Amino acid sequence: MATMEYKCPSCGAPLSFNPEKQNFSCEYCGSEFTVQHIQSLYAQSEKTESLNEQEVRQSEEQRTKAQKTGEEFNEDFMVSYSCPSCGAEIMTAESTAATECYYCGNPVVLGSRLSGEFKPDSVIPFALTKDMAVDAFMKMCGKKKFLPAGFANKKQFEKMQGVYFPYWYVDEKMQSSAVAKGKKVRHWTSGNRRYTETSTYRLFRTGDIEIRNVFEEALRDKQGAPTQNPQSTRQANAQEAMKYLDNYHMQQRHEMLQCVHPFDVSKAVPFSMSYLSGFKAEKREIGKQEIMDTIAERMDTYAKQLLEDTMSGYQGVSLENYSDRTFDQRWRYTLLPVWIITYKFKGQIMPFAINGQTGKTYGKLPVAGGKLALWGAIVALIVFIIAVLGGMFFL
Ligand SMILES: [Zn+2]
Ligand SMILES: [Zn+2]
Repeated sequence: MATMEYKCPSCGAPLSFNPEKQNFSCEYCGSEFTVQHIQSLYAQSEKTESLNEQEVRQSEEQRTKAQKTGEEFNEDFMVSYSCPSCGAEIMTAESTAATECYYCGNPVVLGSRLSGEFKPDSVIPFALTKDMAVDAFMKMCGKKKFLPAGFANKKQFEKMQGVYFPYWYVDEKMQSSAVAKGKKVRHWTSGNRRYTETSTYRLFRTGDIEIRNVFEEALRDKQGAPTQNPQSTRQANAQEAMKYLDNYHMQQRHEMLQCVHPFDVSKAVPFSMSYLSGFKAEKREIGKQEIMDTIAERMDTYAKQLLEDTMSGYQGVSLENYSDRTFDQRWRYTLLPVWIITYKFKGQIMPFAINGQTGKTYGKLPVAGGKLALWGAIVALIVFIIAVLGGMFFL
């Protein structure tokens, strides 16, 4: 399988995208290159990669066929390629579009997985470097009271990876109309009588509505939980451990990713493969067709809400009829940057996610059993003293 490897034009060392400088800076010779410069240098090889779609098509056909016949399609299908730097055989999940060689650590972009219909429209480049992401993690730990002693320690990072995740963003312009029933109630007193007047209104609302950036994850949930503990497999087989960790991320991925939103999509740039160099990237597995209904439903919900918001002067508003007509819809397949940390503490592996653009963190931090118990004991003691005092007062 063909791969893309970005190299320093001055010294030939592997080149990664630098989030802090938003350019390419060579770690070895210190030369700096703009994104445009690297893009124009590699334009030809990126193009060649794009022609290499065979493999992508094949796996898609396999999936479609499996779906039609009801056969189980193995989502964890692994593909091997050889590292352009050291020649080692590397296994990746079928959806992986960029990674680093497990043996020599050099960044590799699997260009053919991001070509044709799988070519993203845009990408939000990483703005947080690895160090900045570590700082964000330490800051999150600093805010927690009951962390076990020694938890926040940079040495315990098992694995840390910047990953681009595929998302669909949809903008829509529509004309929406709603008919609703609402009431206005008036009370007044005259003499010694109290009056209530209830007027019922029929409310008509129509308007041009524009909804932007409704998003959906474009990566499938992986089936099947890993059964082996990575500790036992790591020594035996590094690649197996790698696969385990990839799957491990996948299981809690949805929740983690959901919680590090929002992203500022106005900062997205037209897609270029070179942004992925030095990071991991997943290609989209979910097409437009598959999520069209979900998106349409959500657009309707937002549009209804907007129309209902204009009926605020009425009580007990109930919608009787709603209709809309879409006159413009725009879909963008976008890659979003997220730092994924696998943290090891007392033999347990915990995943954390950090928004690679804003630094927003997510993860369930452990609570020190001892500390909580002590706190509980103090509270119990105070309650006891109060109870004794209270008893004394009553005596
Ligand atoms: Zn260099
Ligand atoms: Zn290698």
